[in-house]
This record gives sequence, C-alpha cells and structure tokens, in this order.
Amino acid sequence: MTSLAPKPDKHKKAKALKPGSIRPAKELCSECGLCDTYYVHYVKEACAFINQQISELEEQIHGQSRNLDNPNDLYFGVHQDMMAARKKQPIEGAQWTGIVSSIACEMLTQGIVEGVVCVQNTKEDRFQPMPVIARTPAEVLAAKVNKPTLSPNLSVLEEIEKSGLKRLLVIGVGCQIQALRAVEKKLGLEKLYVLGTPCVDNVSRAGLQKFLDTTSKSPSTVVYYEFMQDFQVHFKHEDGSIEKVPFFGLNTKELKDVFAPSCMSCFDYVNSLADLVVGYMGAPFGWQWIVVRNDTGQEMLDLVKNQIDTQPVTSSGDRKAAVQQSIPAYDKAVTLPMWAAKMMGVVIEKIGPKGLEYARFSIDSHFTRNYLYVKRNHPEKLENHVPDYAKKIVSQYKLPKA
Ligand code: FAD
Ligand code: SF4
Repeated sequence: MTSLAPKPDKHKKAKALKPGSIRPAKELCSECGLCDTYYVHYVKEACAFINQQISELEEQIHGQSRNLDNPNDLYFGVHQDMMAARKKQPIEGAQWTGIVSSIACEMLTQGIVEGVVCVQNTKEDRFQPMPVIARTPAEVLAAKVNKPTLSPNLSVLEEIEKSGLKRLLVIGVGCQIQALRAVEKKLGLEKLYVLGTPCVDNVSRAGLQKFLDTTSKSPSTVVYYEFMQDFQVHFKHEDGSIEKVPFFGLNTKELKDVFAPSCMSCFDYVNSLADLVVGYMGAPFGWQWIVVRNDTGQEMLDLVKNQIDTQPVTSSGDRKAAVQQSIPAYDKAVTLPMWAAKMMGVVIEKIGPKGLEYARFSIDSHFTRNYLYVKRNHPEKLENHVPDYAKKIVSQYKLPKA
C-alpha cells in the first residue's frame, strides 16, 4: 500500500552542525547561521562564500539582474527608486534615525507579518548578537542599533518552519540574505519580506574588541560606532559624548587582520537581494539612504511615509584619485600621524566625494581591497566568486602586482 502522507522534505533529516565546528566555507564562513540548522543540507548551493550566484538570484527575485551599462545599477544593484530619508521623530538609541525598526514595527502592528527576524544582544554583552523572531514591536525595538559583529541571523530558520509562521519579515546583511534567498522556497512561507542593510568590514567578537582597544580612548563605554561620510569613525559613548577618529589615522598595521576573512572577500556591500535597503552612505550626513529594489520594497517603505522626510539623492566630487591613492596605502599598512590624518580628513571632507559619489568611493575602496585579498589568498575562487559587476568596478583601477 502506498502512503498518501507527503514525504518530509529531505532537509529535515539533515543535522545542524555543532557549535564551534568547522563550517563548509571554512575560514571564509561569515557565521550567517544557515549551518546551525537542518538547512545545512543546502549549504553547497546556498552559501554566499561557496556559490556566488547574485545575478541568478537577482533575476529570480527582482525579475531582472543589474544592467552593467547603467552606472547606478552597476554600483547599487537593481532598483526602482532611491532617496535620502530621515525619521521626523528619530528613535532614541537606533543606529541612525530608526527607519529599519519603524518599518518592522508597522509590519507587525498592521498584521502584514506575524514575525520579524532581527538581532538583539545578550544581557551580558551589548555587542554579542542574539538573533530572535520578534512577535511584538517591543521585541523589534529591543533589536535596534547595529551589533557590529558577525551574527548568525539564519540560526532561527528551523524555528520558523516549526512554528508555522506564514508571513515573515527578515532583517539582515548581504551574506545572510543570499543564503536566505537560496532556501526561501523551502521555508513554507506564503510571503517573505526582506529588509536589508549595507554591510562592510564586520568582525568577530574578539576582532571587535581589538578594534575598540586600538582605536577608541575608552573602549568599554562605546555604545555604537559608524564609519561616517566625514571620513571619521564616530564612537558614541554611554554618557552621550561622541569621539571622532579620522579613517586615515587608524592603526592599519594592527587592524589589517581584524576584519573577518568573509568580509575581506565580500562583494555584496549593497545587499543586492533585499526588497528594500536602508543604509546611510549615499545620503547627506544625518540622513539615511534608501534603495527600493522592487514592488515589495515599495510596499514596505509606504508604511512609514508619514513618519519620514525625504529628499532626492545627490552626487558631487570625484572619488577616483582618492581611491587609487588608498590602494597602495592600505596594502603597505601606512598609518599617518594623528595631526596629518586629521588634516587630510578635513581637506577631503571639504573637496571630496559626497552623496552617491561617497557611496561609490566606499564601494571602490572595498572592492579593490577585497579583490586583491581573494586573488592572494584564494586564487582558485577569483573567477567565480567575484561577480561581473565587481570585476567591472575594480577594472577602473591600477592594482599592485600580487
Ligand atoms: P535600527 O532601527 O537601529 O535597526 C538596526 C537593525 O539592524 C536591527 O533591526 C537589527 O536586527 C539589525 N542588525 C543589527 N546588527 C546586525 C548584524 N550584525 N547583522 C544583521 N542585522 C543586524 N550602511 C551603509 O550605508 N554603509 C556601511 O558601510 C554600513 N555598514 C554596516 C555594517 C554592519 C555590520 C551593519 C549591521 C550595518 C551597516 N550599515 C551600513 C547599515 C547602517 O549602519 C544602519 O544599520 C542602517 O542605516 C539602519 O539604521 P536604522 O537606524 O534604521 O536601524
Ligand atoms: Fe554555513 Fe553561512 Fe558559514 Fe556559509 S557562511 S558556511 S552558509 S554558516
């Protein structure tokens, strides 16, 4: 007699990898969380560091892959709208003005989703990520502000399937979202919404400590930090004070190995596969940068349109000379004396790239650095792992010989 019961999905028989064990992507693993679940079954296709497939997934999700001849597509990915925005009443303690948390709260309150995957921190450590499925706005708000560390957001995927959630919002960075998109159809959802942030230069918890210890005057009181458009790192401390350290004064020798190998080989800075992206780097200082990739993203943004002011994106300056000069400087781990670093920061801020041109500056600097990293450390991966758009961006610069 044949059974009429549906066959269980194969992945449910797979076993999550043990905490601390070596992941299939080895040292390139970004700890996205997929391998902490039975979806490890799909790791060879899904992992952003084993199978780079941004173009195919763009096609699947947005109905088209980016047009490499369109300068904005080339840099910022498939999009139907872009703008600068800020909340009229910022959320106290959010990373910027809290647009991400506000959208997630609205989606829950209006019943558009039943849960939100986001990342809170542990009680003991404000920077130790703790992914959760938030069911209330209070739980979403408890996840506000960046945890500037690798975060296993996808470790809650099994819980989603088991809890029977049908409508879900996932907030995450590029590597998490690529793996999520690859297994999306296996999750049993009716609708998945994806709210992404750009991401770059992430670190392990130990790496974060080294960064704080070498860069801030008071590492233990740092509440959050950001690499800002004024070419300085801004550290916010517990007492509300802001400490600014110029990029060019960073102790590059000490910090060279701080960034996770996954982030040194990532080319999805702008979170190409999210429906809506909320960052800051293409916007004037104090504003957030919004990239609407598709209709789902527009639906999400519309939920907060009464809560935000917007303005068109702008672009000025020319990044190219600054990027070209930064390539050998980074390579040789040059650290400028603080007075010179401050002066250089002031000059570049006055005459340097602004708006979308600043975003291009940051993308170019990171892609050239990462291209060299992959070429030197994983030459066998270079061809397939670097997407065509990144190869085109990198080809504008003269790189040092390997
Ligand atoms: P909030 O309302 O404060 O919400 C922040 C959300 O981020 C929360 O929902 C939380 O779940 C989620 N989150 C926090 N930490 C992580 C993590 N480690 N992994 C996944 N999700 C997380 N923008 C740029 O334009 N350029 C950059 O170079 C850049 N680098 C970033 C690096 C990291 C590691 C992260 C997490 C974000 C980065 N961003 C960058 C995005 C930017 O810093 C803000 O997160 C974004 O603008 C949203 O601000 P907000 O006030 O709306 O967020
Ligand atoms: Fe697994 Fe994610 Fe690490 Fe890839 S990055 S090996 S999918 S945990």
